[in-house]
Amino acid sequence: MLYRLLLLVLCFGTTVQAQDYFYKKFHPFNEAVPSPQEFLGYGIGEHHTRHDLIVAYLTKLAETSDRASIYQYGKTHEGRKLVILTITSPENLSNLDDLKQQHLAFTDPSKNVSNYGDVPIFINLAYNVHGNEPSSSEAALLSAYTFAASNSPEILKYMNDAVVMIDPTINPDGRDRHTQWANMYQGTPNVTDPQDAEHNEYWPGGRTNHYWFDLNRDWLLAINPESRGKLKWFHEWLPNVVTDFHEMGTQASYFFEPMKTNASFDPIMPKENYEDLNNMFGAEFAKALDSIGSFYFTKEVFDGTYPGYGSSYPDLHGALALLFEQASSRGHEQKTAFGKITFPFTIRNQYTSSITTVKTAVANKAYMYKYQQDFFKSALTNAAKKKIRGYSFGDDYDQNRTKAFIDKLLVHDIDVFTSGNRYVVPTRQPQYRMVQTMFETYSKYRDSVYYDASAWSVANFYNMKYRAVTNLNMEEKIESTDDLVTVVGVQKSDYAYVIDWDDYNAPAALNYLQNNGLVVSSAFKPFTVKVGANSKSFNYGSLVLPVSLQKKNAQVVYDLVQKAQKKYEVPTYAVNSGYSLKGIDLGSRYIQPVKKVKAAMLIGDGTRSYEAGEVWHLLDTRMNMPISKIPLRNFNRTNFDKYTTLVMVSGRYNLTKKQQEKIKAWVRKGNTLITIGTATKWVIDKKWVKEKLTNVERDSLKKDSTIVVGRKPYVDAGENLGKESVGGVILKADLDITHPLAFGYHDRSIPVYKNNTVWLAPSKNEYATVAKYAKNPHIDGFITKKNMEEYLKPSASLVVSKLGSGRVVLFADNPNFRGSWYGTNRLFLNALFLGDKINIPARD
Ligand SMILES: [Zn+2]
Repeated sequence: MLYRLLLLVLCFGTTVQAQDYFYKKFHPFNEAVPSPQEFLGYGIGEHHTRHDLIVAYLTKLAETSDRASIYQYGKTHEGRKLVILTITSPENLSNLDDLKQQHLAFTDPSKNVSNYGDVPIFINLAYNVHGNEPSSSEAALLSAYTFAASNSPEILKYMNDAVVMIDPTINPDGRDRHTQWANMYQGTPNVTDPQDAEHNEYWPGGRTNHYWFDLNRDWLLAINPESRGKLKWFHEWLPNVVTDFHEMGTQASYFFEPMKTNASFDPIMPKENYEDLNNMFGAEFAKALDSIGSFYFTKEVFDGTYPGYGSSYPDLHGALALLFEQASSRGHEQKTAFGKITFPFTIRNQYTSSITTVKTAVANKAYMYKYQQDFFKSALTNAAKKKIRGYSFGDDYDQNRTKAFIDKLLVHDIDVFTSGNRYVVPTRQPQYRMVQTMFETYSKYRDSVYYDASAWSVANFYNMKYRAVTNLNMEEKIESTDDLVTVVGVQKSDYAYVIDWDDYNAPAALNYLQNNGLVVSSAFKPFTVKVGANSKSFNYGSLVLPVSLQKKNAQVVYDLVQKAQKKYEVPTYAVNSGYSLKGIDLGSRYIQPVKKVKAAMLIGDGTRSYEAGEVWHLLDTRMNMPISKIPLRNFNRTNFDKYTTLVMVSGRYNLTKKQQEKIKAWVRKGNTLITIGTATKWVIDKKWVKEKLTNVERDSLKKDSTIVVGRKPYVDAGENLGKESVGGVILKADLDITHPLAFGYHDRSIPVYKNNTVWLAPSKNEYATVAKYAKNPHIDGFITKKNMEEYLKPSASLVVSKLGSGRVVLFADNPNFRGSWYGTNRLFLNALFLGDKINIPARD
């Protein structure tokens, strides 16, 4: 023992003391359990810790401490492990299944248990959803060590009364991007100059995951494996308290809840959550931070209204979710207006809040359990007060989009039933508040700046036609989406095959067939043909595969068509004659071969990584189609002639005249440029196309006539100006469903998502405005009256404009928002696959 102590002192010298900076008051520690420093070979805060080492350390704790066990709940896109370390007393740990059942009894409204004080409280300490906010995962290591190894009376008591479940890294792919960055630029001594490379990550930075998604928005949308794994785990355990640790700007101090009050009004959450519970915990965080001399603020900013944050989703499940924001040292040490901020300092604040969370939860255990029980019981009583009994939905033309939406409901543990040829979600269920989240829309808001989207009726994301019903017809409960799509196996034909373009997966099937060397055409007008003994009508855009015109023989063609159908579950039909019962014949000039797409996208500094990631994710994961990501820094040596289609997402493009000419010349040759959001504004400002923005003329008019300028209090400027930005609203657009960009849609009315102030004027060309906002466009979310009346109503959402023999497809709104706008994805995919087929009838 003496030898071991000696060795420790020799190896780590003064840094052993340094680690007491964090956990001095929790001595003595179980010596059989290694501290983070002993395990890593460096003290916490000296370097940024890689995710594999974080997992290895927690695994070590599970091996060496009789209080801990480790569980893997998923794997990231890049294959990193997602883990939870459960820590509680050895007695609790050996009895965990039973305790879990006792705990879950409070979440079951049909049960009337009252042993509030007897069951340990379940706490999920979750860290590092934003990869470049690194103090949190380091604090997770310290928290895990403290709970697994400290024998102080205080910690021993917590371990009796709580089950602490530590998720050290919610976003390991992003964390490792940032970890690599911070460590590779670390100097000896530290360079505190904010201009040093260590403090300035390159695009895309480590905030997001592999596909540049913000996982702290993905709890609701469940697009990524990180969230899907976490949600499955979450619904299994329904913890009482959940933390969400973040970092903010370097010049700030520390933030904990309560959040900004005026924006936090939540129509579906119990007030008790964001008033009583937050104040109860807030008082304890204040005390703990006071005791180590740390400064902080509350209430001024952030709001928890968007239900897809780590600090709001659990609130909709009977828990208290807590947001923490630490001023970032971004790197190991940085100069600020207050002196220097060090990495260990930021870690200590997060660690202190972690321990305090457990302390406060334990002290209020009975209260928290009663709250959780009331929460789920009130879900049923609230629903019973309403006339609405459920929501009926379904799309006759698109089973795969319907399936994707049902998947979303099931991920959130919402009960769904079949109901004739539609589906129904009853409101009277414990998940009533999530049902509201998926279907209800709001038009009344507190006039305020929102931290993020103010609209999230997810059914609209999926363009799911739904209605509230007062009579329920529930047939079979849906347990999984596995066999939800039914397609009749296609028969062999020696003449032609036709595939519905209405199905969400049809573009993926097209890409698959083209990759296998088949020529596939698109029908530019509808037609009705005989399929077997029946007649069947096909919509705009239906894919036609003429068998005799293929280079492969009929059997090989059939095999490939069958494979495509199996893989993507798309409705596919064998046709034996080209003579149509109605509409165009199969040899018509309105049926034209679709050119194989070779897509590229500009990425890098100045471009919006979220939007770029959404495009990349859509093509990779749903279309199985590669897209070349062209870094802007390589622009001059990029040969664009290899591509048919170029995507420019929102961003600031600092392209010289010569560089702009390079893209324009490429488009003029007959290629397709797709612009989204502010890239659309940019190409209009640069006069690449003859389109206009709605607000430019009006604003310049106003400038001339405005002589009298009013006065407003200085202090209100931020709030007044801020709310004119569009945080995110759902709007109704009117679609020209005969336009190739809108093929696959049956209904002219679609919901679109707007989170920018790009006000695109309808084209002067009568055939080029594909989607214009409807007369009464508001569906869901906050937008000021001024934006609505002056800018939005006269504007268009989607316009296509000619440039030489090519065209620019101008999306004012983002059709791929957060990977979950299945309803407008098709517009983007049409631009990709059918872009070169658009002839803009021109009079000029
Ligand atoms: Zn964050």
